[in-house]
Amino acid sequence: MRLILISIDAVSGVDAAKLLSLPNIRHLAENGAFLRNMQTVYPTLTYPIHASIMTGCYPDRHGIAHNHLPGQLTLPPKMRKWYWEIGQIRCKTLYQAFSERKIPCASILWPVSGKNPYVRYNFPEVLALPGENPTLKMLRYGSPAWILHMEALYGRQRKSTDQPDLDDYAALLAEKVILARKFGFLAIHLVDCDAMRHRFGVNSPESDAALSRLDARIGRIRDAVRQASLDRETVFCLVSDHGQKDCRVSICLDRLLRERNLGRAQSLGMGAYVFPRNTEETIRELSKNAAQWGIREICTRDQLNRFHAPGGIPLAVDAADGVRFTDEGDEPHGGDHGFSLNEPQSRVIFLLSGAAKYAFKSFDSCSVVDIAPTLSRLFSLSMPDTDGKNLLL
Ligand SMILES: [Zn+2]
Repeated sequence: MRLILISIDAVSGVDAAKLLSLPNIRHLAENGAFLRNMQTVYPTLTYPIHASIMTGCYPDRHGIAHNHLPGQLTLPPKMRKWYWEIGQIRCKTLYQAFSERKIPCASILWPVSGKNPYVRYNFPEVLALPGENPTLKMLRYGSPAWILHMEALYGRQRKSTDQPDLDDYAALLAEKVILARKFGFLAIHLVDCDAMRHRFGVNSPESDAALSRLDARIGRIRDAVRQASLDRETVFCLVSDHGQKDCRVSICLDRLLRERNLGRAQSLGMGAYVFPRNTEETIRELSKNAAQWGIREICTRDQLNRFHAPGGIPLAVDAADGVRFTDEGDEPHGGDHGFSLNEPQSRVIFLLSGAAKYAFKSFDSCSVVDIAPTLSRLFSLSMPDTDGKNLLL
């Protein structure tokens, strides 16, 4: 049996009706098991969540605390390095578990997957910072011989490295891996919808068009599986990381704290980490100014512990409705995430389809940390120390 794990960024259970109106996703859901209320993890940012999907562990164990690496608050956000390397994840990943069974892995645009010793065909998600060469960076973090080979054959078909062109190229790479039958586990992360929702808003025509393109890419992947005569031995797993909410106003919380010598803030989008100079004083000022600074709730470390937030974060805040925190400037914005786990957009989808009939157990709650243990049971992998549980009957 083979697994194709497709992550669709910035889609939540709130979008379920839209997703199920699209032909390929509807087909997979009607012939498989589908959940629309899976709880994502805190913070609701792409990199921590994808690390939880890959490990079955919460951020307090896998250590991916943000998209950005820590200790860079003095740099402008555009210059900050991200968690690009698999070695930064402190827990065992599905890649390692498949490799132990000698099952070849391929990975396309998956976050925190660079320099991955377990992946034979790796086109990781790495962002070239100002002054860096995107191609050289990709070669350094991914599988250089394969990337160059694909680039020579198909690079000209890619109009740009922005969305939606990059997702189209990612789908093309997936097709080629599938047609060559060179994988047992293929993970692919599709980002088009996240990009459009950030720019144009959650339910904009541009974002709806991104959902249709997403379904068409899933269709291309399904076609490749059929063409390679792998339909009877392939399991499709669709997951998502977080939804988005529309923003009306941007507030630079870091500047407000710095101006009053209260400490620093690091934006999560619709929330922020706070690094106070004096915890009690900062909490007092945050509470006093909550309405003006767009703060809905202050989370102490005790509260953060309850939802397994990453270590090293003394304090956090959730934004009021329609507010987005920035680390510099007040630029206008469409949608965003980084909100609390109370938001309906923090409930995401999980779909298993193909190869056999699947059904989930009934349970009180389920979380994205249950994905890896569920896949691990289905493929008889060894992942003995996860936080999550198997959901399959
Ligand atoms: Zn995301």
